[in-house]
Amino acid sequence: MIVYYDICAILIISLVLLSCLLKKMYHGRTNGLFYLLLFMMMASSVSDFFGAYIQNQGVTGEVSRTTEYMWQYIYFGTHNLILPVYLPFIFSNIGMWHEFVRNKLLKRLWIAGMVVNAVVLLSNVAYPWVFYVTENAEYQRRSGIIIFYIIAVSYMIYEIGILHKFRAIIKRDKLIVMVLLFPISALGIGIQAVLPNHLIEMFMISIALLLFSLIIRREEELLDPVTGARKYSAAHEHVKKVLSTGIPTNILLIKFVNYMNIRMYLGQEQLNDFLKEQSEILRQLARQSSVGDELYYLDDGLFALISETGDYDSMRLYAQKIRDHFLDKIMHKNFSVLADVRLCILGCPEDIDNYNTLYTFCSSFHMILPETKEVMHYPDYVNERDFKIKSQLDDIIDRAIKSRSFEMYYQPIYSITEKRFVAAEAFVRMRDEVYGMISPGLFITAAEISGAIHTIGDFILDDVCRFISMNDFIGLGLECIEVNMSTSQCIEMNLVEKVERLLKKYKLNPSMLSLEITESAVDFDPDVVDQNINRLSDIGVRFSLDDYGTGYSNVRRVTTLPVEIVKLDKTFVDGIDDPQMCIMVQETIKMLKQMGKKVLVEGVEEEKVVQKFTDLGADYIQGCEYLQGYYFCRPLPERSFIEFMQKQVQR
Ligand code: C2E
Ligand code: MG
Ligand code: MG
Repeated sequence: MIVYYDICAILIISLVLLSCLLKKMYHGRTNGLFYLLLFMMMASSVSDFFGAYIQNQGVTGEVSRTTEYMWQYIYFGTHNLILPVYLPFIFSNIGMWHEFVRNKLLKRLWIAGMVVNAVVLLSNVAYPWVFYVTENAEYQRRSGIIIFYIIAVSYMIYEIGILHKFRAIIKRDKLIVMVLLFPISALGIGIQAVLPNHLIEMFMISIALLLFSLIIRREEELLDPVTGARKYSAAHEHVKKVLSTGIPTNILLIKFVNYMNIRMYLGQEQLNDFLKEQSEILRQLARQSSVGDELYYLDDGLFALISETGDYDSMRLYAQKIRDHFLDKIMHKNFSVLADVRLCILGCPEDIDNYNTLYTFCSSFHMILPETKEVMHYPDYVNERDFKIKSQLDDIIDRAIKSRSFEMYYQPIYSITEKRFVAAEAFVRMRDEVYGMISPGLFITAAEISGAIHTIGDFILDDVCRFISMNDFIGLGLECIEVNMSTSQCIEMNLVEKVERLLKKYKLNPSMLSLEITESAVDFDPDVVDQNINRLSDIGVRFSLDDYGTGYSNVRRVTTLPVEIVKLDKTFVDGIDDPQMCIMVQETIKMLKQMGKKVLVEGVEEEKVVQKFTDLGADYIQGCEYLQGYYFCRPLPERSFIEFMQKQVQR
């Protein structure tokens, strides 16, 4: 008998074992099953070798015969287990372990195969119908061995079937290597059947196993080094698997919405520590709640727990435990951190059944769903108008751009000194065939993120200029129209040329156009913004500063920019009944006026506010020049606005 193949097999298996140990592949079920496979392979190769060795020595006698029997029993006992161990290994390796656990019939057949093998092998002790060792210690096969082959082929067919069934969720290289085991071992068995002296079978299987060691990943490679949770790439694979197999799965999204603030407060190193600590708590709570422990960190303060237990109630309880944990401040070393966490549970595939929608929802749910610390459930929102709009905004905006479905509304601005409406602010509205009129509060930010704001902004400027150029504009008593400019527009390199072209196209006096900028735009890219504002201001375009007081107010920037009017945000007016707030409003107005700015109060809804400011009078150091709000008029479509203004003029 030629035993060199077995020696090679033993060497190869030892090398694979060594490389696994050096790579510290200790953790996880897949690794465990792989070690079991290696053990079975090693035991069968060693017993095969010694069995052949005894025969090669040609030593006769009872001792040799018994030893030969022993090696052959070890060989069959372990060799017969290679394919059965391969089955759970496949399930574990492709991430379908639950399927193996859940499928009772599969498990019964799996065990039955092993039991039959064991019974047949043991019966050989009483009646040698599988193999026989002669007095000369010579090994002989008997007809019963066919049962081992039949069972082995059954396992193979079943395993090939499983790989075929789940082929869509298995990476190509992994699939190839896993399937290769079958033709490689079949080739080994074939050669050995034709040339019984060549013990090549174990050598061939060990080659297949060597390929395996290339595809088995260390569990640690799947983990995010900062949080200890699984990485984004692992979540991607998991979700793809869930969606393509349709396994009922619950996903809990856990988003730290004030992640950036916590980072600023703690610094990067402490933030990492904090996230690690919280990730451990999330996993601990998950284990206690029986929702598995597949916690993923998807970056930027977003965790996701993916549970294939299919038990929605457990997931809900788990989410509530997390909510309770984050309700209070968390002591982290010397810091007390108040984490603002949003929680949302959704089911796959019944709530979302495609990857792109799921991906978009995960990354934006905290902006789309209401601001609440309570646990949110996807189905509760899916039919709400705002939710539907927000989750399809990019498509809706594209649709609106293609069908030119934007429209400008105008809200008059009242001058306290002149006691009449002297200007108006233009607001864009988007009309959708499904959702009707959509307000800018819903779509401007999305348009800024997608870049669509440039196209929309171009339309707005053009349409407002067209409106100003109408014959009766001056007859309406209007001096200018204010146009809201988004940050992305303010940093356009060709903004000045664009505006100049429009002024020329509609033959407008530049002072009829007033651009509203916000503090965030002013601070975004000061060089470009300054250049744009100064150049436009030089040709006579006016500027106002919108929403003053809502962000952090860079007073120095306000003084240096050629801004004519500062618009006090509605939140100022809302608090005017409070004496402290009233002092603040008056002092703010005083400060702005001393800087040479005119002041407009936005969001005026009540008469008492109008009264208060008109009583103060614009000349008074604490009085403002302009008022704007629903009290006077809501934003109106162009035609209605013209009618409104005509009535005012006729008065
Ligand atoms: P903003 O420029 O500060 O506009 C004020 C918002 O308050 C407008 O909402 C207006 O309709 C509303 N408003 C006016 N008076 C009152 C009032 O008395 N009470 C209350 N509660 N609200 C009042 P809108 O039109 O939904 O716009 C929201 C924001 O969207 C705007 O805030 C502005 O930042 C942005 N936006 C609106 N139109 C445009 C546009 O054409 N271009 C750009 N880039 N942004 C726009
Ligand atoms: Mg505005
Ligand atoms: Mg405003």
